[in-house]
Amino acid sequence: MDASTDRPRVFVARVIPEDGLAPIRSACEADVWEGDGPPPRAELLRRVAGCAGILSLLTDRVDDELLDAAGPGLRVVSNFAVGYDNVDVAACARRGVAVGNTPGVLTESTADLAFALILAAARRVAEGDRFVRAGRWTTWGPMLLLGTEVHGATLGIVGLGRIGQAVARRAAGFGMTVLYHGRTRAPEAVEAALGATWVGLDELLTRSDVVSLHVPLTPGTRGLIDARALARMRPTAILVNTARGPIVDGAALAAALRDGTIAGAGLDVTDPEPIRPDDPLLGLDNCIVVPHIASATRATRGRMAQMAAANLLAGVRGEPLPTPVEPPMIGR
Ligand code: NAP
Repeated sequence: MDASTDRPRVFVARVIPEDGLAPIRSACEADVWEGDGPPPRAELLRRVAGCAGILSLLTDRVDDELLDAAGPGLRVVSNFAVGYDNVDVAACARRGVAVGNTPGVLTESTADLAFALILAAARRVAEGDRFVRAGRWTTWGPMLLLGTEVHGATLGIVGLGRIGQAVARRAAGFGMTVLYHGRTRAPEAVEAALGATWVGLDELLTRSDVVSLHVPLTPGTRGLIDARALARMRPTAILVNTARGPIVDGAALAAALRDGTIAGAGLDVTDPEPIRPDDPLLGLDNCIVVPHIASATRATRGRMAQMAAANLLAGVRGEPLPTPVEPPMIGR
């Protein structure tokens, strides 16, 4: 609390759309980090001291050190993302600090980008664009840039949650057969509406022409797609990751793309982020990499900002968060 104004002090770790900044500024003493990138760690630790709320991004690690630096007055961490693998939720819970995220509002945009990457990787769109710009387009070629068909193909969705289901809905328009893998089977009505069949991960990898990842990053999903998993995929298959980078073993993926174990990949997320300029994946024509932009539409980022602000403001007032990270999710 700021003694001079009685308004709670909050730290906002990056400039977010006004849809969220305006309500935060009107209710709080808001310290907004205006740098292009995330606040350096030391700066972050310094700026959160004495705050009642922190609006964090996936680039900010929220752990015991940060919670100690904030001090006992901290009531809420509002993460500007649906994924919260950057937040030590258990550490927050131990201190009675509520955690919020932004589920649902970015589902359709993320599914759009997943489908963009599926089409672009399968039909070699980025490679074709580079080919033209390099002045190599001399004639129509019957063997030029042949790709993998998407319509009528089999799509394997790993994690049939909000985004996985939105991808499955798009797949229906392409006449795709949809397989999915999750720890639990979806309700029959969901399976029927999506025409999706539950299979084990190995069967999904073996049967799918396109594999799209939509699980959260947890200890159980880190490295889920490793060399062994890639070896099960078809040589014509495409892997798309719009979930989190560490779910895929990047070195194993580069090897699989290089030696023809799989045909192509589309990545919105990498490990680390940003990807290193000398990462072998960037030297491969059959790998598309975009800079974690799945939710990057003006409308979606506006909705995320509103939701993150609503969580922050509820938290500093000691009210239940509109979209809390529920305690049962802890440790998953
Ligand atoms: P969600 O609704 O919670 O869906 C996640 C799904 O993954 C659930 O169906 C869950 O089902 C399943 N799952 C969890 N652990 C699993 C495991 N070990 N093996 C198999 N399935 C597992 O979440 P969402 O809103 O769809 O978002 C999914 C993830 O996408 C987020 O956590 C985030 O990391 C990522 N994301 C990325 C971007 C981006 O900008 N690239 C944007 C939005 C989201 P069960 O719990 O029943 O297994």
